[in-house]
Amino acid sequence: MSEILRLIIEIQGTVQGVGFRPFVFRLATLLDLKGYVTNNKSGATIEIEGSSELLDRFLGRLYLQKPQHANYLKISLQQKEPFGYFDFKIKESQQDGEIKVHLMPDISICQNCLKELKNPKNRRFNYPFINCTDCGPRYSIIKALPYDRINTSMANFIMCPNCKKEYENPKDRRFHAEPISCPDCGPRLMLRKKDGTILATGFDAIKGAAKLIKRDNILAIKGIGGFHLVCDATKSLTVNKLRQRKRRILKPFAVMIGTISEALKCAEISELEKDLLNSIERPIVLLKKRKPHRLEKFCIACDCIAPGIDTFGLFMPYSPIHKLLCDAIKIPLVVTSANISEEPLCKDFDELCKRLEDVFDYVLDYDREIINPVDDSVVFVLDDKPVFIRRARGYAPAPIRLPTKLEKKILALGAQQKNSIAIAFDDLAILSPHIGDLDNLATFDRFCKNIEMLREIYEFTPDLVVIDKHPNYIYRKYAKELKFELLELQHHYAHALSVMCEYGLNEAFAITWDGSGYGDDGTIWGGEFLDIKKGDYKRVLSFDTFRLLGGEAAIKEPKRVALSILFDLFGDDFFIINELLPNGFKEDELKVLFLMHKNGLNSPYTSSVGRIFDIVGALFGSIYECSYEGECGMRLEAMYDSECNDFYDYDIDGFRILFKPIFLKMIEEKDIIRSVSKFFNTLAKIVFDSIKDVNKPIVLSGGVFQNRVLCKKIIELLKEHKKEFYIHQKVPPNDGGISLGQIYGAHFLSLNGD
Ligand code: ZN
Ligand code: ZN
Ligand code: FE
Repeated sequence: MSEILRLIIEIQGTVQGVGFRPFVFRLATLLDLKGYVTNNKSGATIEIEGSSELLDRFLGRLYLQKPQHANYLKISLQQKEPFGYFDFKIKESQQDGEIKVHLMPDISICQNCLKELKNPKNRRFNYPFINCTDCGPRYSIIKALPYDRINTSMANFIMCPNCKKEYENPKDRRFHAEPISCPDCGPRLMLRKKDGTILATGFDAIKGAAKLIKRDNILAIKGIGGFHLVCDATKSLTVNKLRQRKRRILKPFAVMIGTISEALKCAEISELEKDLLNSIERPIVLLKKRKPHRLEKFCIACDCIAPGIDTFGLFMPYSPIHKLLCDAIKIPLVVTSANISEEPLCKDFDELCKRLEDVFDYVLDYDREIINPVDDSVVFVLDDKPVFIRRARGYAPAPIRLPTKLEKKILALGAQQKNSIAIAFDDLAILSPHIGDLDNLATFDRFCKNIEMLREIYEFTPDLVVIDKHPNYIYRKYAKELKFELLELQHHYAHALSVMCEYGLNEAFAITWDGSGYGDDGTIWGGEFLDIKKGDYKRVLSFDTFRLLGGEAAIKEPKRVALSILFDLFGDDFFIINELLPNGFKEDELKVLFLMHKNGLNSPYTSSVGRIFDIVGALFGSIYECSYEGECGMRLEAMYDSECNDFYDYDIDGFRILFKPIFLKMIEEKDIIRSVSKFFNTLAKIVFDSIKDVNKPIVLSGGVFQNRVLCKKIIELLKEHKKEFYIHQKVPPNDGGISLGQIYGAHFLSLNGD
């Protein structure tokens, strides 16, 4: 018989809210080992004794059989004299110590819970809040760590005897499932009128909601991270009613669909896309629209849901509420965040009624508080890998491993658009979920709350705060008032660093194309080629600049940048323009704009590729005014002819790409599809030409690289010539990924002895 030993095992990482302690308990009891397991702020501690042989087996299985969502970042072992434990226990969580444990994202309903939900003999049959240690809300309901019920918005619900039995039974799959509940003791689902009157509760509320939706009502439904507006996706009239009420004219809506086979009726879906739709994160997946066959009976109202583009966003029900609703209604549903334009989504009934009273007809509500609102995530597949457009529910705020250990604690404030903030310590970065555009007051408020929340939960005080170089970013004042050391980083450099961080690169040739970012020379950059080495960068190539006629207004109205280019090309002969931008401007408006262009009045220079897409959109897609960001790019994608391989020649003068003459050739082309297709090919050619002689890793970042058509073309070219290149996988290529880059940039500067 081998010697009796006692081991103290400390585990850091994602070990709370994932069924870790019950797993350890079961394993220890199975092997007849004694001791205990407990949660603490740094993760979990196991103290365990038995024969060395059995302990070996225990350790082996601790790795091999770990719970699905558990993630061990660090394990330390200590050997001690045997203590003489009689049994194996799960001890109360310890509140002291330094925080090393991590916040878990919300997890979609698991297979076991799904089975119970559908089983009439189960006591949670049709129960809209079913969950277990493998699934259910996490981030959205948590106030503090460790992840115990008392620290969540489930604290107000007293467990009934049956739930308590399960919660305390280590052999039960709901052992220490913190949000455990049942129809007797849990949150209550309510179908309500606008005045608050309750029409039905529990599963009856679901059935009632389904009926109301079928009768063309618009419902506000409380999901995991906030309210959604929901309506029948099969009827154009209803979808358009929602558009009018929400004042959202063209921006595509996401659709929730019950099964993959239904989804296949309206979209082309690859294996990977299928996996993403079914994944535990359940993001919205952007898919290519499928043309319905002529005699096909059911199809969603595609043209109202995503007008003028050839993709749309689909997702599968992720919470039991959504699952029950989908099964009850059996038709696809438009599901869009309950907000007006870019405001944050509403998180409770009062807020909903205050802000959106005229938008919805009825509400499907429940009485568990959402502590941390979180949007749906959005992804698309590129080169057989998922790329984020928005990183939120299901993913954030899971930590991102950094390629290096940081010396300082860093808070990164990200960018002004599509903001996401990050805190970083040791070798980890924790990015908040997508927050949004900070020029909106309500969103800015959420920005502040996210920072406070992460700082509080992680008991985090930064040594350094990283901000964007832009002098007019709204958070500047806030950042100064924090009174920590500030570091400014250039926007496109941060974009590049963000990909480099994902892959642990120290040097790179970066192509960063986006809408706009403040440049080192005070102009607006957005079509940059940067040579990056050891924490420093050199701008080696850029697009020829053009004026944004009217500044900010030019971003919302592509016809203004188009006019600006026409003035550049034709000068005084601008009478021709009337023909090129028919009905774009009134006669006297043109005269004013011409003077503005000539004198540079409120018309800053930019090298933005995002705006170049706008020029093409206005001239060749008649998109004079954008109703949502990125509209031109998306609508031009739909015009691309993949059979066309031609491109336009262009010149480079020193370090400027002279692209303007391309527009003359495009105008001469006559065939619009051909000119748009050649435009895409030309951009890909520009990328390829720029890296031909580069012997460094190539990184691509910036919102423009969310354009699937352009990316596909570039990847084709780079692969054909066996060029090593890197695109984002962990964070979005758009400004949502900036905070990660800012952290990496701060790290490089500290290496350089700054
Ligand atoms: Zn479950
Ligand atoms: Zn109960
Ligand atoms: Fe950007």
